[in-house]
Amino acid sequence: MLIALVEQKLVDAKDAARCDDYCCPACQQTVILHHGTRVQPYFAHKSLGDCAVATEGETQQHVVGKRQLAKFFRGWGPVTLEKILPEIQQRADCWVARAHPVAVEFQCSPINAEQVAQRTAGYRQLGVYPCWLLGERFGRQKIGWSLIDRFASPLRGWGLCLLFWDVGRQQIRLVHHLYQDATGTYGFWQSWVSSLAELEAGNQRRLWVPPINVRQFRRDLDQKLLRATPALRPLQETLYLHGHHLAGFPAAFVTQHVTLPLFGQGLLVWRAIVGAWIFSLRGEVLTPATLGRLAEEGFALIGGHLQAGRFSGTAELARAQRDFMADLTVAGAVIKVKDGWQINAEPQWATDYTTWLKNDEKKLG
Ligand SMILES: [Zn+2]
Repeated sequence: MLIALVEQKLVDAKDAARCDDYCCPACQQTVILHHGTRVQPYFAHKSLGDCAVATEGETQQHVVGKRQLAKFFRGWGPVTLEKILPEIQQRADCWVARAHPVAVEFQCSPINAEQVAQRTAGYRQLGVYPCWLLGERFGRQKIGWSLIDRFASPLRGWGLCLLFWDVGRQQIRLVHHLYQDATGTYGFWQSWVSSLAELEAGNQRRLWVPPINVRQFRRDLDQKLLRATPALRPLQETLYLHGHHLAGFPAAFVTQHVTLPLFGQGLLVWRAIVGAWIFSLRGEVLTPATLGRLAEEGFALIGGHLQAGRFSGTAELARAQRDFMADLTVAGAVIKVKDGWQINAEPQWATDYTTWLKNDEKKLG
């Protein structure tokens, strides 16, 4: 920690002289000033009691980064280091006082989704916007659901983002416009942001999403099924009941759309499952209510999440339904009727990947 209490006054470690009576502003226990020629000065609790806000084993990265961030954010308003919020028993690494205050959290140590949610909820309760900047430890992790669920949040002009603070460069490494392509692969862009002006300006680059390779995706599914990949088993079992093979989904289901990154195994697999269910309703009218139910069940089956820490998937799933029905209508597979959709002609499934490949090659000539 950088701020301690001495004689009822807050003192910054960089201005503190060695003396024995510093204490923690939160728990009032004794803290010791540490400084040397190579480390930036900081305070640490003498003994690890039950301090609600202490982050012991604080790294130099955290100590140095907090000061850098206080400087970075001062254009938004007066910044307080390590502001203690007794109402919610939390301490913000940096606090930016403005009409809508910002709590900057420089996260360098491990933290689970529950803890993040709890801290975020605390700040929300106070009407504060929490801004998580992630340290090295997180920068080494693969961008996937675990990071996205805990830390991704929408930022104006940048889509859905993860923010990493690079202490060496003193810049934000902004991972932005996070998405999943139809095969479920995570995608994003990365920009270095060195000022608040750049952050506020939003993305200035042209973003291009590479198209998915459907043939490759079918082959990957096929091989994963041969290896009995556990995540695919419930999907294939569901399709077997309808006489289908996951890798043999109809061409009419293929889409180049991207989704928010909470779509589990991806839009295409979701379409395969929901599509198989829809076309088993031959002779009935598919009502919006039934479609909604199938869409949600399929979403759960593919490991989709309706809610992430700081964004929701409800609108995304509704959009996926609309787009799927629009594509099936264009393909002539369904016909829009008064109360929903009537099945017209089930798109052709291949019995398996090998058959699909043969048919495809024949078609290609
Ligand atoms: Zn304490």
